[in-house]
Amino acid sequence: MKYALVTGGSRGIGRAVCVKLAQMGYHILINCVSNQTEAEKTLELVRQAGQDGEVLAFDVSNRQQTCDAVEAWQTTHPEEYIEVLVNNAGIRRDNILAFMPAEDWSRVLDITLGGFYNVTQLLLQPMLIHKFGRIINMASVSGLKGLPGQTNYSAAKGGIIAATKALAQEVARKNVTVNAVAPGFIKTDMVEGLDEAALKKLIPANRFGTPEEVAELVGFLASPQASYITGNVVSINGGLYT
Ligand code: NAP
Repeated sequence: MKYALVTGGSRGIGRAVCVKLAQMGYHILINCVSNQTEAEKTLELVRQAGQDGEVLAFDVSNRQQTCDAVEAWQTTHPEEYIEVLVNNAGIRRDNILAFMPAEDWSRVLDITLGGFYNVTQLLLQPMLIHKFGRIINMASVSGLKGLPGQTNYSAAKGGIIAATKALAQEVARKNVTVNAVAPGFIKTDMVEGLDEAALKKLIPANRFGTPEEVAELVGFLASPQASYITGNVVSINGGLYT
């Protein structure tokens, strides 16, 4: 059995990634923070794709919760390891910096960067021992370009891009690849409330992307065919910013 963990797998892009990896033959560990009902729906879709999975609810920004969940899984699967990790969990709390509460600055960074550290640090060693692993980090156009109203989110996503490049160089010899995906506007709960009609005029493809389109890219980066791609950021944005 091959295992993949997708953080924030209960909804949006994470859910589509869970389904894609299930189609590729992975048993899926679906992480969510609170939305157990949506995570169970993802599990149902994974089963419809012909694989099984389980829901692991924990807050990626909480080191103790993450350790408890991962160690509990490792204890019940002593012979196995998680070979694909998709660090997808994320939130946005937009505001211009002059009005941004400290809590909104920290929460966004804690989930994206703290979450990356907490989960990756625990799963990395088994990947190195088995000499195979795939780590895919969900960045954003905001982390490449910087977007006004998103200094916290841009800082977090820019940080994850730098972490991707650094870690990739640490582990490449062990056949573990580390890449980032940088979506533009993708139709999920996260973009609800944005003015889609106005924003799509800025996108050369003239539309928002779908979670399934992002999942195809993640699936490729997770595949054996992507074995010589590491330390990269792949944009998927309809031509918005390249
Ligand atoms: P979404 O629909 O809002 O889903 C967010 C997911 O993250 C949910 O599964 C949520 O779990 C989970 N999550 C949030 N905080 C968490 C925490 N502390 N611990 C564990 N899980 C947590 O978002 P999305 O649009 O699919 O975004 C997925 C990723 O893509 C994010 O990293 C986002 O920044 C990035 N991205 C999105 C877009 C876009 O346009 N949508 C563009 C660029 C980048 P619950 O269901 O339990 O709340």
